[in-house]
Amino acid sequence: MFKMQSGSKNQIVKLSKNSWILILLFVSLLIFFSLMLLLKKKPEYLSKVDIALGTTLKVVVSSEKDPRLIIDAVLREFHRIEKKFSLNEQNSDISIINRSKQPVEVDEETAFVIERALTLARATDGAFDPALGNLISLWGFDRINQTDFNPRVPTDSEIEAALSRCGYENVSIEKGIVTMSNDVKLDLGAIVKGYAIDRAIAIAREMDPLATGYVDAGRDIGIIGAKFKGEYWSIAVQDPRGDSGDYLDVVYLKKGSIVTSGDYERFFIIDGVRYHHILNPKTGYPVRKTISTTIISPDAMDADALSTAAFVLGSEFSSVLMPVLGGQGLFVDEQLKTTQTQGWSFFKEKR
Ligand code: FAD
Ligand code: MG
Repeated sequence: MFKMQSGSKNQIVKLSKNSWILILLFVSLLIFFSLMLLLKKKPEYLSKVDIALGTTLKVVVSSEKDPRLIIDAVLREFHRIEKKFSLNEQNSDISIINRSKQPVEVDEETAFVIERALTLARATDGAFDPALGNLISLWGFDRINQTDFNPRVPTDSEIEAALSRCGYENVSIEKGIVTMSNDVKLDLGAIVKGYAIDRAIAIAREMDPLATGYVDAGRDIGIIGAKFKGEYWSIAVQDPRGDSGDYLDVVYLKKGSIVTSGDYERFFIIDGVRYHHILNPKTGYPVRKTISTTIISPDAMDADALSTAAFVLGSEFSSVLMPVLGGQGLFVDEQLKTTQTQGWSFFKEKR
């Protein structure tokens, strides 16, 4: 009886030892794997800065394939698009269309951009108008970075004359043939940067569907993929009257795009009055009631055109219209009052 008890006691002690060994093994493995996780290197990002479309371009990419090849392909795409849509290139599609007195046949890509521009012009009642070329060049905003830029404020009659040769209603496109009347000229400066960002993202993803990073073309940003494959990118919206590091708000994105139009980068001041590059197609003068608009949208192309339209329309109207057109926005008026669309707050949290 005693032996049996002592035997069973011994057995209990033996089992406890095994358990301890198992627990120790388990804890060591736990520590080992936690350390492995901690030490696991996060993907590295490679970045390159260039100048394209008259602005600073930054491409940031992480890829298990060669990120340098992806970055170079993205930069090549920006330069290809610049050549094709620039007003400064004699042989760009836009220069050829603007010079021609006859309808011009364009390729699928140019047709796509012009069609989307006309659709968004109609949807915003011409607040975004891709056929303001004559007005924009009268103000000189088509050559603000050029050495011959010599700003002056046009007279009312010059503005009236230019306005009579403006307007998207004078442009039509059917089966790839662009027809323009009334001597209007295209200026796609408010939409092509966004298109280039969309193309850049598409190219990066074609080369590596798992690539992550972003493209930043003068504060217009498109996301290639979530940071470290799963985290949010934090994006600050610049304070339009602050210093360059000052910001108004921060949003978090894993995909999509965020585009800002402001009166603080392309402007000149005469007699203390600021004249900037976003023009009201109804008056012909720089818009006064807004100083900055930011739009978040799945496509950078739409965000680009919508941020310009919102700038012209003002916060009250834009906070209703932008969500209908697929954009959430933050608008700053001339009194520095900020207004947001209802859906903007969705992007202020990491979900
Ligand atoms: P956005 O609000 O997106 O656009 C404003 C621009 O759109 C204005 O500059 C004007 O061109 C036009 N615009 C003004 N009012 C309206 C309106 N109501 N509706 C529609 N459009 C309007 N700049 C240079 O200085 N040098 C260059 O070599 C140069 N090359 C370029 C090549 C291409 C292909 C493109 C697309 C642009 C180029 N730019 C160049 C222009 C420059 O990048 C513009 O400032 C930029 O396109 C405007 O973008 P934004 O985001 O500042 O403002
Ligand atoms: Mg724009």
